[in-house]
Amino acid sequence: MMAQYTPMIQQYLRVKADYEDAFLFFRLGDFYEMFFDDALKASQILEITLTSRDGGSEDRIPMCGVPYHSAKGYIERLIEAGHKVAICEQREDPKQAKGVIKREVVQVITPGTMMEGAGIQEKENHYLASFERSGSEYAIAAADLTTGECRTAVFQSFDGALHELAAYGVKEVITNGTWTENEIKQMIGRLGAVISVEENTDEFEFDALMTKLTHSLLRKGTARLYHYLHRTQKRNLDHLQPAEQYEIRDYMNIDYFSKRNLELTETIRSKGRKGSLLWLLDETKTAMGGRLLKQWIDRPLLNEADINRRLDIVETFMANFFEREELREQLKEVYDLERLAGRVAFGNVNARDLVQLKKSLGQIPLLTNLLKKINGDEVQQLADKLDPCTELYDLLDRALIHEPPISVKEGGMIKDGFHTQLDEYRDAARNGKQWIAELEKEEREKTGIKSLKIGYNRIFGYYIEVTKANLHFLEEGRYERKQTLANCERFVTPELKEKETLILEANDQMMELEYELFSQLREKVKEFISRLQHLARTVSEIDVLQCFAAISESRRFVRPVFSQDRTMIIEEGRHPVVEKVMDAQLFVPNNCLMGPERDMLLITGPNMSGKSTYMRQTALISILAQIGCYVPAEKAILPIFDQIFTRIGAADDLVSGQSTFMVEMLEAKHAIVNATDRSLILFDEIGRGTSTYDGMALAQAMIEYIHTNIKAKTLFSTHYHELTVLDQSLTHVQNVHVTAAEQNGKVVFLHKVKDGAADKSYGIHVAQLAGLPEDVIARADELLHSLENKKDKPAVVNEGQLSFFDEPEPVKETAPKEEQSLISTLLSYDIMEMTPLEAMNTLYALQKSV
Ligand code: ADP
Repeated sequence: MMAQYTPMIQQYLRVKADYEDAFLFFRLGDFYEMFFDDALKASQILEITLTSRDGGSEDRIPMCGVPYHSAKGYIERLIEAGHKVAICEQREDPKQAKGVIKREVVQVITPGTMMEGAGIQEKENHYLASFERSGSEYAIAAADLTTGECRTAVFQSFDGALHELAAYGVKEVITNGTWTENEIKQMIGRLGAVISVEENTDEFEFDALMTKLTHSLLRKGTARLYHYLHRTQKRNLDHLQPAEQYEIRDYMNIDYFSKRNLELTETIRSKGRKGSLLWLLDETKTAMGGRLLKQWIDRPLLNEADINRRLDIVETFMANFFEREELREQLKEVYDLERLAGRVAFGNVNARDLVQLKKSLGQIPLLTNLLKKINGDEVQQLADKLDPCTELYDLLDRALIHEPPISVKEGGMIKDGFHTQLDEYRDAARNGKQWIAELEKEEREKTGIKSLKIGYNRIFGYYIEVTKANLHFLEEGRYERKQTLANCERFVTPELKEKETLILEANDQMMELEYELFSQLREKVKEFISRLQHLARTVSEIDVLQCFAAISESRRFVRPVFSQDRTMIIEEGRHPVVEKVMDAQLFVPNNCLMGPERDMLLITGPNMSGKSTYMRQTALISILAQIGCYVPAEKAILPIFDQIFTRIGAADDLVSGQSTFMVEMLEAKHAIVNATDRSLILFDEIGRGTSTYDGMALAQAMIEYIHTNIKAKTLFSTHYHELTVLDQSLTHVQNVHVTAAEQNGKVVFLHKVKDGAADKSYGIHVAQLAGLPEDVIARADELLHSLENKKDKPAVVNEGQLSFFDEPEPVKETAPKEEQSLISTLLSYDIMEMTPLEAMNTLYALQKSV
């Protein structure tokens, strides 16, 4: 069936068979062409014209193509849409080829292996990961091809591993296809990643990169990842760093939902950075520092000594304002060494990049000197770790001019005096030009034509130009006519021809030699990749720590202290992002006082009073402390939390198609199953998504369970006032409420958290302020009291069954019919569920009905 096609299409089909899952960009002269199905699909995605071509078969073959020089943008668009692109190049000179030109795939670009383009953000890593399973164990290896880092960890559950992959934001998952359909669906849904298959897990080839890996499943997964990278990139990847193995237990565990809920690195609504904790904190001056900051926020520490080491450096930086300001200025000049190392390995750096590298290296001694001026052991250690790679700096400095061109093939990059042969060629070329200038002068004198000039163009080379009016001055036979223009003629002479050959040859040789010297330079830089990567890491650490100092100062943060006995005392704590967005003056700071004997705050208060802000700020303060930053408060004594769980706000889990209430329960389960007495739990309005009794019962049962069995520090906000009596039976529970007040007849939220439960008749109070007739208000009050008497009896924990609430009493038979229906309507209202506005509307409707 192949036979019907032309040899070229046959070649295409053979190549395509190996890259079924990618768009094959098949190089034909100045275009990349796509055929058959690829053409049909790509023409739609890229909005380019679909044509067809005769390929030997009966039907014409669908085809579309993009110009070689503008292919980048098209490739990016396909990748962004979650596809892969295999680049198939011509591998021989078309003029010398016999038969069909040899062609070969030189690289497969995939969502996880992009090296540049709009999808690659300066301050974000770009991860792909392998995902491995054996029995009940799971292993992931996440690598960033742009920086060469690779981090691996083992998990005991599918869910745990998935949460971590989500934290990396992986764009592509490499597996061997042993997953169930449902698991694959979850991976794609949760991660928004493409799934790629790689069967080869042979470890031998990558032994050197896996010396730190002991776990066999990890080794297998990491080898799979490296095989995939090599199979798709088809080149030396010298910048890949040895894979690091880390224990998930060494870091504070914040599951994917909670990270989103707390808006650590992006906001829920816009999915952008702006408004997130990362956005608030990012005062880093280098791209590398920006990426490390995100990594740190994703993984707060647990080890107190490590945390204090960071805090010590921040403190030192804070105490040295002028040095810090200078440090910030100098860091600005440091280029992205990490990604540069990656591009060097990939073979796509130009002379400008190397000049940038040189300038960056030139900054390092300045940084070191500056750090040496600052007291503090840890800062000195950082200074000592800065390796200026002096040999490399000197070499680059000797070799490259200050502002070389972008192209590496056209010369003009290398300094005079760097290479003797190059200097000779240059002399020849320069002398030649000098000679031409002299010839021009001579010819003018000889002919007496003042306007005679010698010029150059790519097609005709050097020529002598004479205007038509002056032609008769030229000596017969000496000048050979080359080109005729409107008012002038162009000539050459034998000696000009001869010199031209010399000059052009020297030029060609010069460019060739420059390219060769540049390539050597690039190879030399390759030898420094690992040192550059180490340097990059130290620079980024310095950058993040100076950023913490800058933020802590400008936003008036304090250094946290850690307690051993689970005490948590935050005085005048603030939500750093809300405070920044609103106007610091207006933000109301709040205490959070939880001694060793107080594990749970039951928070009540009207909607919009600031309950969830209060809960979030508590979590953010703990996270800031554990990444080694100061915290927004006047004073903070904090336990080191092993995990943070949240159930806050509306979660949308559109992917799995679960109801909001189901998601709520799943998140609650996740917390209740995994939390320890070292964890922080934030539950906001649990049970809201179901009927009142149901919800209240669930909320109470959870409070009791956490209180008695888990003992985690818990902030529990609720609109069920009935639950506030629990502080009588549960000794570690404390009621607090967020205050509101009346001012000039309006409700004003004071946002102040105070001890004790909130006022129950709040809704009615609002109705009163809204100006409802006094009769209605009085009646509502009366009804509320009677309801309370009936319902305000949550079960006290006793042996055996829990009975929550009495059955609602039947409506009295004696009441007249109208009144009876009114009463039953009233009783059916769920006042605690209503917003003030709903309460008002309901009352209004009620009033109208009588
Ligand atoms: P709730 O959870 O009680 O419904 P939120 O925490 O969502 O309320 O807060 C509602 C709004 O009130 C926030 O968007 C914020 O603008 C404001 N707010 C909350 N806490 C404070 C505070 N401590 N100081 C000033 N304004 C606050």
